[in-house]
Amino acid sequence: MKGGMTPPLRLMSIAYCPLSPVYCPLSIIVPLFNERESLPELIGQLYAAMQEDELRKLFVEPFSFEIILVDDGSTDDSCALIGSMIPERPELRLISFQRNFGKTEALSAGFMAATGDYVCTIDADLQDDPFAIKEMIKKVQEGYDLVSGWKKKRKDPLSKTIPSKLFNGVTRLFTGITLHDFNCGLKVYRKEVTRRLELHGDMHRYIPVLARWMGFRIAELPVEHRARKFGVTKYGSSRFFSGLFDFLSVLFITRYLRRPMHFFGMAGLISFLSGFIISLYITLDKILLNQPVSNRPILFLGILLIILGVQLFSTGLLGEMLSTSSAKGSSFAVRETLNLTLSQAKKFGSAD
Ligand code: UDP
Ligand code: MG
Repeated sequence: MKGGMTPPLRLMSIAYCPLSPVYCPLSIIVPLFNERESLPELIGQLYAAMQEDELRKLFVEPFSFEIILVDDGSTDDSCALIGSMIPERPELRLISFQRNFGKTEALSAGFMAATGDYVCTIDADLQDDPFAIKEMIKKVQEGYDLVSGWKKKRKDPLSKTIPSKLFNGVTRLFTGITLHDFNCGLKVYRKEVTRRLELHGDMHRYIPVLARWMGFRIAELPVEHRARKFGVTKYGSSRFFSGLFDFLSVLFITRYLRRPMHFFGMAGLISFLSGFIISLYITLDKILLNQPVSNRPILFLGILLIILGVQLFSTGLLGEMLSTSSAKGSSFAVRETLNLTLSQAKKFGSAD
């Protein structure tokens, strides 16, 4: 603040703004995309779950919570509906995206805004049980950093449960993490975890992998799962491919992000050396035994492997340069925010 003067406060699109910093032990983040029909019931259930003594006694008084609804570019009137609920329910906060950026970005925005010591994520479609939150918090208090729900009896069609089993099996196999269900929408984190997670693509599916890789302690708790009552699933068949590519990037990130040269360098070295040996063999053959060179397919293999080796090597070098100088940041764009605290609003550029 220049000259010790308090600048006039300018708030954009903020209907209601609790200006005093609130101590808020629990932040609940709800990513939502066209979930209008589910919202009233969801908010009602979340508030009911927050009133339970069993939950409240897990916190030192005064207990408070906030529900950060991240509207991921809904085209129904989810936003207007949330806006109309805020006067009666001041714990609701809304961050609304310009367009649909995907659940991962919605979670990132929620994590950015969350002020609670505990951060909970829950899907908006009523498939997760808000009354399970207290059990998950208890588990975190046993000494875990992230407790992930396990949809033991999944109420989804076979077209979802079979790929999901496959996804969980492959992820378990490659990461050695023994969770049954990596992609449950219901999770409770200590805030340190959410501060450290950097998510992009569709990486919300691999949050436990990334958290474990950072050294956080993770656990799993069976939770009730319900069938989708309203609306439709937002994930069609395209998730097979995006899931596969994200899996590869997660493998890469958790193993080689800080040392891409170990990955590309080794592949490059093997390729280059094989090419070199083949070319040397052909050259010696020509010089010593006077064998013709140009009509031998292996010559092309040798050349190809040498070029490939050099390429892989340079990719590794570029990767090293990028990993040391890359700028961090999310890619979502915010259209409007409602009822954020001043410090939250500052993070999203809706107050200055
Ligand atoms: N979601 C979102 N952005 C998207 C897709 C989904 O915020 O682009 C939200 C969605 O509204 C829901 C949660 O993410 O609250 C899980 O989505 P969905 O229920 O469609 O996934 P499924 O349970 O079928 O895997
Ligand atoms: Mg769902």
